[in-house]
Amino acid sequence: MRVLELLQSNQDGQDQLEQVEGVIRHVVERGFWQIERVMRRKDGSKFDASVITTRVDKADGELAGVVTVIRDISREKALAEQRARFVAHASHELRTPITNLMTRLHLFRIRPERAQEHLAILDEVAERMIRLVDDLLDRSRLERGIITLRRQQQNICSLLDKIVRHQQSEAERRSISLRFDCPSEPLIVECDGERMSQVFTNLIVNAINYSPEQGQVTVYVRSRTAQSAEIVVEDTGHGIPAEHLPYIFQPFFRVPNENEIKGSGLGLSIAYELVALHGGELTAESEMGSGSRFIVRLPLAAQTETQEPT
Ligand code: ADP
Repeated sequence: MRVLELLQSNQDGQDQLEQVEGVIRHVVERGFWQIERVMRRKDGSKFDASVITTRVDKADGELAGVVTVIRDISREKALAEQRARFVAHASHELRTPITNLMTRLHLFRIRPERAQEHLAILDEVAERMIRLVDDLLDRSRLERGIITLRRQQQNICSLLDKIVRHQQSEAERRSISLRFDCPSEPLIVECDGERMSQVFTNLIVNAINYSPEQGQVTVYVRSRTAQSAEIVVEDTGHGIPAEHLPYIFQPFFRVPNENEIKGSGLGLSIAYELVALHGGELTAESEMGSGSRFIVRLPLAAQTETQEPT
């Protein structure tokens, strides 16, 4: 009768009795019974359970009893669903540039005299696919927990200075002012320089991408204690609607927009996890019409020798 109690079905007593008798008959005859079902915890909350009942015999082969093991598989199921969603999203994301590639190849065949234009677009599509595949690989590595950080003491200010200088031409091309208010004191963080550059590049590129002409993007250090510092990437772009803000760090999430800025929706989710791997936190504040602010809080290193980023 133990199985009956544990299953805690909502059926009436007679149904339960018949069900358990059926299970016991099955276990006695075949040695094993397994089912997945939704069960209730003592506090009334529901969970996905795997129920396995096995026949246990005495040394002489006579039936001694049955053992039932109930396992909470909610997390396994959620992970399996997440994986399936990831594959579906990834395939969908890859399909778009592949379709563009095929269309452009077709146009190349029928209009070969416009070779330069076709080649420029093919280059662009190929680059987009590489970026997408790199992001997908990073996401997959993060989900499997196999990203290893090559940590070194770095002056984050030098790293930011380099990124800002690198993005300056793109900002100018879009008539956006990009500024780094460099603090006088170095900001030493024990971090993987490449991964940290990836985080800040993503935030700065987004700030440029989601700002209109004449917009301003500013990178600055907001607060600093002996233990940690907050680095802010701020823009005067169109902002993120409050109802979408809680989801922007989720993989593949993109705020629906009329301007059709193409992106995979993976960058922020990767940045979020990378900052967390460094013991920090990435948060966002935004106001529609006035802009967005992304804040990276990082623990500061107890200073020893500083290694400049290469
Ligand atoms: P994407 O490749 O689409 O830019 P991200 O993960 O970097 O992917 O960003 C997720 C979404 O968050 C973007 O699609 C965009 O809608 C929104 N977003 C990110 N940064 C900004 C910003 N600075 N201003 C406005 N919206 C932003």
